[in-house]
Amino acid sequence: MGLIVVSNREPYAPRRGGDGGLHWVPSIGGLTAALDPALQHAGGTWIAWGEELPGVADVDLPQGNPRYRLKRVRLTDAEVRDFYHGFSNRALWPMSHYFIERTRYQASQWRTYVDVNRRFAQAAVESYREGDLIWVHDYQLALVPRLIREALPDARIGFFWHIPWPSSEVFRTLPWDHELLDGLLGADLIGMHTPEYVAHFLSACRRVLGAEVEGNTVRWQGRSSRVVDRPIGIEVDTYEELAASPEVEEAADRIRRTLQTQILLGVDRLDYTKGIPERLEAFDTFLGRHPEARGRVTLLQIAVPSREQVESYRQLRARVEGLVGRINGKHTEGGWSPIQYIYRGVPREELVAHYRAADVMLVTPLRDGLNLVAKEFTACSADGVLILSRFAGAADELPEAVQVNPYNPEGLAGALTRALSMPLEEKKARLARLRERLRQSDLRTWADGFVAEIAGT
Ligand code: UDP
Repeated sequence: MGLIVVSNREPYAPRRGGDGGLHWVPSIGGLTAALDPALQHAGGTWIAWGEELPGVADVDLPQGNPRYRLKRVRLTDAEVRDFYHGFSNRALWPMSHYFIERTRYQASQWRTYVDVNRRFAQAAVESYREGDLIWVHDYQLALVPRLIREALPDARIGFFWHIPWPSSEVFRTLPWDHELLDGLLGADLIGMHTPEYVAHFLSACRRVLGAEVEGNTVRWQGRSSRVVDRPIGIEVDTYEELAASPEVEEAADRIRRTLQTQILLGVDRLDYTKGIPERLEAFDTFLGRHPEARGRVTLLQIAVPSREQVESYRQLRARVEGLVGRINGKHTEGGWSPIQYIYRGVPREELVAHYRAADVMLVTPLRDGLNLVAKEFTACSADGVLILSRFAGAADELPEAVQVNPYNPEGLAGALTRALSMPLEEKKARLARLRERLRQSDLRTWADGFVAEIAGT
C-alpha cells in the first residue's frame, strides 16, 4: 500500500548545477518537511506543479536514494496566471481570509481552475494502485477529491485545507460555492486547523448544499465525509537543537550587539492578511506613549516578498515601506532608528537566530490559517514573549501567549508594554507550558496521524 500526495507546489525543485547536472533541492516550508518523510516511508507518488526547466521530467526522489516518484504536472503560463495567481489567490485566498472587498470572482479563471484540478486528478488516477491512500492538499486543489472519486469510487481519499474556512455567510459570496463543497466532499476525511473552521465548513454544507450533517460527518451523494480539526505541528526537536547550537547563539549575539536595544521581531510574508501596517501603527502609538522607550527598543521586521504579480501585493509593499519611512522619520534620533526593515526571505538558521535574539515576537495577523512562525518562535526562544493575534489559527493551541486583537492599535501598544516589562520567571514559565503543548503534536505526529486516519476511513 503506497501513498499518493497531491499538492500545488513540488517538494523538491530542480536546479542546474555548474557541472550541468540536475540537482533537486528540498523546497522550504512545512509541507515538504512533513510529507517527505511520510512518503519516503510508505513509498508512492507525489503529484505537483513545478518550475519548468528544459529537459526536466518526472523523477525518483530523493536523489541518490529514491523512495518515491515525483510526477510533475505541466501548466502553461496562461494556466498559472488564471488558476494560481487568478482564481486561487484572488478569489479563494481573500474570501477565506474574510477580505471580500479584495476578491475577484471571474468565470474564465474559475474554468481554468476546474481544468487544472482535472489535470492533477488525472495524474493521481493514473498513479493509483489498489490499496493506495491519496492525500490532497489545500485550496488550489479543492475539486480534486471529487474528480478522483468519479474515476475511483473505492479509493481512500483525504484532504487538508491549510487556510481558514470562513463563516458560511462569507463563503456564500463565492459564485461556485456549491461546486467547491461538492469537490471537497469527494474525500472521506477532510482536515482543518481549528474547530471553528470545521464548524463553519459543516454549516456551509448544511446551508449551501442542504447536505445532512451529523456530528462531524457530512452525508452527500450517497457517501460520508468526516471533517476533523488537526492543526499542523512543527519539528520541535529540530528547532530546539538548532536554537541551542553555537553557530545560532553566535549569530543571535551579533544581532543583539548590532542593535543594542530590546528587540521586537516580526516575520511575515508580505501579505495583507498579516496585519503588518496595523502593527507598525501600533508601534508608532507605543513610541508616542512611552518616550522613555526611545533608543531602547527596535522593531525588526522581516518581510518576505510574496505574490508580486498581483497588484494589491505591490500596493501593500508601497504602503508598508511608506509607513516604515514615516515612523522612522518621526522618531529617529542619536543614531537610533525604531524600525529595521528587511525585504527578503532569510534561510532557516538566520531565522532561528532572529527568534533567539528577540525579546518579543509580534505575530499579529488580521486572519491566518494557523501561523507556523508563532510555533517556531516558541520552540526557539529562551526567554522571549509571544504576542499573538486572536485571529491566528494557532491561538487555540497557544493560550499562554499574550493574545491581542490586531485591529486595536491601543490594545496592541498596551500588550507591548506588558511584554517588555514581564518578569523573567513569568516569561520562562509561559514558554515552558507552550513548549510542552508543541511537543504533544509535532509535525511527524500530524502527518503520520492523518495518514493513519485516511487508512482507517
Ligand atoms: N520562513 C522562512 N524564511 C523567512 C520567513 C519565513 O523560511 O525569511 C518560513 C517560516 O519558517 C515558516 C513559513 O516560512 O515556516 C511561514 O509559514 P506561516 O504559517 O507563518 O505563514 P504563511 O507564509 O504560510 O502564510
